[in-house]
Amino acid sequence: MTEAPDSAVGERRPARRRKAATSAGAGAPAGTTGENGTSGKAGETGSPRGARTAAAPSARAAAPKPAKQPKPESRLALVRRARRINRELGEVYSYAHPELDFENPFQLLVATVLSAQTTDLRVNQTTPGLFAAYPTPEDLAAADPEELEQIIRPTGFFRAKAKSLLGLSAALRDRFGGEVPGRLEDLVTLPGVGRKTANVVLGNAFGVPGITVDTHFGRLVRRWKWTEQEDPEKVEAEVASLFPKSEWTMLSHRVIFHGRRICHARKPACGACPIAELCPAYGEGETDPEKARKLLKYEMGGQPGQRLKPPADYPGPPAPPLGAE
Ligand code: SF4
Repeated sequence: MTEAPDSAVGERRPARRRKAATSAGAGAPAGTTGENGTSGKAGETGSPRGARTAAAPSARAAAPKPAKQPKPESRLALVRRARRINRELGEVYSYAHPELDFENPFQLLVATVLSAQTTDLRVNQTTPGLFAAYPTPEDLAAADPEELEQIIRPTGFFRAKAKSLLGLSAALRDRFGGEVPGRLEDLVTLPGVGRKTANVVLGNAFGVPGITVDTHFGRLVRRWKWTEQEDPEKVEAEVASLFPKSEWTMLSHRVIFHGRRICHARKPACGACPIAELCPAYGEGETDPEKARKLLKYEMGGQPGQRLKPPADYPGPPAPPLGAE
């Protein structure tokens, strides 16, 4: 993946929230003109005034100007806007972190495999019992499959996940001396471990920069027009090219935090969004500030987070243990 030079971006003032009522460009891509009408004269727009004009056509009314195309955003403008979004999110979510509880690379690897098709909360409520029963790869590799399935059942797809955990633990024991490898090419050879899981482990347990393209990340970066790709690997490569490598891991956390708290899949809370001014998709969700505030989740909405043991700087209450919700 290619990195864009850090020097491509100048410092700018923080974004101010765009006001829905006054936002002529709402819904138009940031950095574009947002114009797509004709000449803009009342007599040419189909308004009642326009209808009167049509009764006595003039040469100008008969030959309207072609619609103006929105100006495409230059590569430099895209890089600047993307990095500004990252900086703004860095201020809003200064406490962004992986939302899986873990104490070592093995625990993070197992938790990430379990997090497929479920919430981090459900995983965090399940892993204390799992790691108490099987603290090491050797212990987990020797687990009774049915007992393991019962422990991880709350995370869903428990048969397939149990198979992956048994397979990856045996591989760690047999091929990597019982240690989680710190290289992408090794991690992706483990059963149940794809590029996304590998990047989570590398970024958060080994300090190796990586971009995590999960459902939130993909949705948001497409809304922001950072990429139009759907394939996670292509998304990863295109987004990586907008930022210095050192930003990749924290960028992933910030974007995922924003997707979980404000920029939801079905109803983004645009009216309460701190980066609305920079977002081409502003207006896709609720723009009324009061109504938007009610859509906020986790600490933003005054609710518990997903981790039972959140980092000390997390501003919300910790998640409850299993069965205490
Ligand atoms: S909440 Fe709305 S304004 Fe904010 S990033 Fe999402 S789509 Fe854009």
